Amino acid sequence: MDGAGPRRGADHTVMREVNRSLVLTVVREGGRVSRASLARATTLAKPTVSAIVDELIADGLVREVGPGVTAVSGGRPPILLEFNASSHLVVGAHIGARRTTVAVGDANGHEVARREFDTADGEPEAVLREVAAQATLAVGATVPGGRIAAVGVVLPGLTDFHRGVCLLAPNLGWYDVPVAEVLTAVLDVPVYVHNAGQAAAVAENLEGVGDKVGDLALLYVGTGLSAGVLSAGRVFHGTGGTAGEIGHCRMPGNAEQCNCGNVGCLETVASGPAMVRFAREAIAAGRVSALGDGFDARAVAAAARSGDAVAAEAVAEVGGNLGLAASWVINAYNPAMLVLGGGLAAISDLLLPHLRDAATEYALGAARRGVEIQVSKLGRDAEVRGAVLLALQHSETYYRVVFRA
Ligand SMILES: [Zn+2]
Repeated sequence: MDGAGPRRGADHTVMREVNRSLVLTVVREGGRVSRASLARATTLAKPTVSAIVDELIADGLVREVGPGVTAVSGGRPPILLEFNASSHLVVGAHIGARRTTVAVGDANGHEVARREFDTADGEPEAVLREVAAQATLAVGATVPGGRIAAVGVVLPGLTDFHRGVCLLAPNLGWYDVPVAEVLTAVLDVPVYVHNAGQAAAVAENLEGVGDKVGDLALLYVGTGLSAGVLSAGRVFHGTGGTAGEIGHCRMPGNAEQCNCGNVGCLETVASGPAMVRFAREAIAAGRVSALGDGFDARAVAAAARSGDAVAAEAVAEVGGNLGLAASWVINAYNPAMLVLGGGLAAISDLLLPHLRDAATEYALGAARRGVEIQVSKLGRDAEVRGAVLLALQHSETYYRVVFRA
């Protein structure tokens, strides 16, 4: 707020929003409550609480659920109130290179419908229109007439949250795609665009291994590498929306070509493709390995488990480089928890010992102490759950923005 000009009106509006937010939070988190207990819990005057409750009921966010137990002192039992989880819906969509998942959640984020289908071939606009169509069908089939309040879209690449744009997703062949604009034109709701690491971080924090620690960072490793960083439970975006893209930090001495157009990026030595390349280079240099000609990261991991030395070294090298990445994240953000997520989390038993050792070796002692290093609990569900939860977080900004000021 810029100190000039009259502020009385603004203050009044802000106070109303604070009070409304308080009441809604107590109803939502406190289960069934009466107006009197709301007044006690919020320390607001009873008439104020009653006016807000009437407004929330009119908006469909709160509903009356009949009388409670008669007070000890006698008199009429109070009418109880509860949060109306079906007041609005949120949609989360995870668009992957091969498969797309669309999930519908209620106002508490509980999933009421899910659809999974092959990611459509063709132009990004066609892919996004298919997502919108599937979301509409899923809502129509489960909650006829249900109102979508917000949509969260999660993409495997660089995203600009502020403009709702997918900057670069090599696996999809997308470059500067106005995702939010295209979907909003079809669905007429706000659309929030995140990358897969950010979504997985939010999902792990709220429903997975994070246990709502608030300050959490997730290393998202698959064909590429990025970090989803949460501060007080919210995604840290940065001014252009690319915060956490550590996979594209340059490593001195590394001349490998990266998907982003630069050379020597960290993800060229800390990702699934890096694991394959290390094994291939060792074989080309004359090392003996059970790996044949064409193999993927999964085959390298399987060979490492069977005792193949070349494969084990490739896994160890990637694990160590991920530990280096972890040390950068730990030093830069000092999270309470660092989670290994993305496709390579499936072989965390092989990677984690190397990752932990390297993180401890490279990170600042004071920053490393107290950082728990864990593995994704949600697995392949993390991205789409994150999409739903992010849509929910953003649809509630209206009530919560006052607390961030
Ligand atoms: Zn790069």
